[in-house]
Amino acid sequence: MAAEALAAEAVASRLARQEEDIRWLWAEVHRLRDEQLNAPDRCQAEGPCLTREVAQLRAENRELRHRLHRLRLCLEEELSHQARLEGAERSGAGRGAAGAQPPPSQSPEEDVRKEIEPDNEVKKPPNFVKERLRLFEILKKDHQLLLAVYEKKGDSSNVITVRVADGRTVKGEAWKTTPYQVAAEISQELAETTVVAKVNGELWDLDRPLEGDATVELLTFENEEAQAVYWHSSAHVLGEALELHYGGLLCCSPPGDGGFHYDVYLEDRAVSSTELPVLESMCQTIIKEQQPFERLEVSTEVLLDLFKYNKFKCRILKEKVDTPTTTVYRCGPLVELCKGPHIRHTGNIKVIKIFKNSLAYWEDNPEMEMLQRVYGVSFPDEQRMAAWEELQEEARARDHRTIGKEQELFFFHDLSPGSCFFLPRGAFIYNTLIDFIREQHHQRNFTEVLSPNMYSCKLWEASGHWQHYSENMFTFDIDKDTFALKPMNCPGHCLMFAHRPRSWREMPIRLADFGVLHRNEPSGALSGLTRVRRFQQDDAHIFCTVGQIEEEIKGCLQFLQSVYSTFGFCFQLNLSTRPENFLGEIELWDEAEKHLRNSLMEFGKPWKINPGNGAFYGPKIDIEIKDALGRYHQCATIQLDFQLPIRFNLTYVSKDGDDKKNPVIIHQAILGSLERMIAILLENYGGKWPFWLSPRQVMVIPVGPTCEKYALQISSGFFEEGFMADVDLDRGCTLNNKIRNAQLAQYNFIFVVGEKEETNNAVNVRTRDNKIHGEISVTSAIDKLKNLKQSRTLNAEEEF
Ligand SMILES: [Zn+2]
Ligand SMILES: [Zn+2]
Repeated sequence: MAAEALAAEAVASRLARQEEDIRWLWAEVHRLRDEQLNAPDRCQAEGPCLTREVAQLRAENRELRHRLHRLRLCLEEELSHQARLEGAERSGAGRGAAGAQPPPSQSPEEDVRKEIEPDNEVKKPPNFVKERLRLFEILKKDHQLLLAVYEKKGDSSNVITVRVADGRTVKGEAWKTTPYQVAAEISQELAETTVVAKVNGELWDLDRPLEGDATVELLTFENEEAQAVYWHSSAHVLGEALELHYGGLLCCSPPGDGGFHYDVYLEDRAVSSTELPVLESMCQTIIKEQQPFERLEVSTEVLLDLFKYNKFKCRILKEKVDTPTTTVYRCGPLVELCKGPHIRHTGNIKVIKIFKNSLAYWEDNPEMEMLQRVYGVSFPDEQRMAAWEELQEEARARDHRTIGKEQELFFFHDLSPGSCFFLPRGAFIYNTLIDFIREQHHQRNFTEVLSPNMYSCKLWEASGHWQHYSENMFTFDIDKDTFALKPMNCPGHCLMFAHRPRSWREMPIRLADFGVLHRNEPSGALSGLTRVRRFQQDDAHIFCTVGQIEEEIKGCLQFLQSVYSTFGFCFQLNLSTRPENFLGEIELWDEAEKHLRNSLMEFGKPWKINPGNGAFYGPKIDIEIKDALGRYHQCATIQLDFQLPIRFNLTYVSKDGDDKKNPVIIHQAILGSLERMIAILLENYGGKWPFWLSPRQVMVIPVGPTCEKYALQISSGFFEEGFMADVDLDRGCTLNNKIRNAQLAQYNFIFVVGEKEETNNAVNVRTRDNKIHGEISVTSAIDKLKNLKQSRTLNAEEEF
């Protein structure tokens, strides 16, 4: 056995060396290929001969791997034979004996056995599960061997210093001490409530050993990043249940918005909502089992073998993973391709709810496989779940589709999916928002333009949309030329800039456009006003010099603050900087980012940096507004663009006479899509529109038939003054019922008029919340309402 162990170690070290070689060669192949692709007259016949070398090395590598594999199996057999002999004495107490002690609440070894003989409640696992687990366990042994080598290597300087975020320092051992142990040293309670660690700024599994001196933050559920990890880990639990229940192919679990979801591919059936309780109870069983999450870093090639039963995982490995190794996590019988990190074990999840299912497509592309999406949410305690349920109830009651129908604002029709019909009262809101922004544009020296809706594809080729965005555009042929409906206004505005020579004297040029845009959203993705095919934006493009960026961005920030505070939204600012695939010169990026930083600093509100998250054509500021239910929405954009001016060859004559200067474009939208903004506002206000935006501002109610004429006169008087005023002349309804109905319909003000009011040329005012302001003359009522409308106050009913 000793000889076998030695042989295995020798093969393992050879493998490691080879893998290093493959990594190097592969990088070389990539480099050469990129060079070739970029060469103007590339010759496809000349493939780099290095690929052959890599292929040979790979073949040999595979051979070695099999040998190692066989040796390991021999070792394993030998070990289990010994274990059986010893096991007779210590029956039942068998727990992980060597290495870093797992916490008492979990015992991975025991779990492994449990999963191999699954619980009676759980269905028989699909065939690939067993094979996958077997391979994982072999890989895990490899990993432990490697870890042992590291430990041996560094025995002289194993001691590390761990700084905890609160200023404390703890001593530990490299490759051994885990963040969980660090937390436990402070207090057991902290260790149990910590969801995930952040080690030197990187999210880190609590049971993953530290590799050197480190600063450790211990994040609890209150922290947003920890929440994301918690829900992501819960998605694994759901994935495990889905796999056991349906035996389908798990696809992926992209991060959700407050909760999690998992996409699964089932060849010949669909998930039914009646099955959700079954899935939920399976999840509960998995939680009870306290299955630990185990992390392994494995070469992509081995993973292709591990996931050969699942075409989706293979696709991810081939298309998305460009590193020689990546990580997998085991949790119970599930082994998932995943970057992590996760919670320690499924027992950290206290309450879980599986509440919704829907259809989805691989990569959101309706031409790809149809997938089943299942949604869930989980929390560390019952109170949080109760609060979540309450919020869901509230959100359902405020759903913009429901209120939009009740208030007769808009509807959709099968004959034009994704394009909204705004009824008169909806159109009033739409136009009031546009008027508001138009006024702001005017104050801030933006000039409004009108531009075409359809353009020849030559424009889209020049802008790059044809190459990168054409599947989202509606195209059609006219006179042998292909045209497309515009999905955005920028290219048209570039033509406007290029229309005649430009000088530095007229910069910045700020063009605003409320033009109608069309984007071909897949029909399955269409959802009320939040995802539509036809929409308008409060779109604007600022053409400026690099030196003007700072001032212009500051202007954009003040603009959005002014608009959002009018709506009563708080917002968060993030600066997204240069991504890896950026275009243009680094110096220009650095300078632009510096200007954005300066503008943000001067603006004075807190902001965060989102490194590498900028668009490939320039850095941007992402703005998220927070609604009344605490949900975040991204509406506004402020994006710098260096590329579009170059693509359209836009130039201006600079102060020193250089006529080849490229301007910079700032894309600015504050509301974003008006359609989507209306949905957000509607849900935010729960249908109780602030007075200035309200499609039902005044209801006039006569106390009896004798006052009908006066009531009519009042209502048309207010209508002529520009208010949305109505009159209720229904004789079959009592006065009290009329008042009640007007309040339920969310009329901000209700004017009751009788003979006394008629004599005094007055109205008797009350609000939708039944605040009674009493009798007031018609002229002062008009003045008050005008002021309230102009100030765009959120609280007109009180301020009246
Ligand atoms: Zn994961
Ligand atoms: Zn734009």
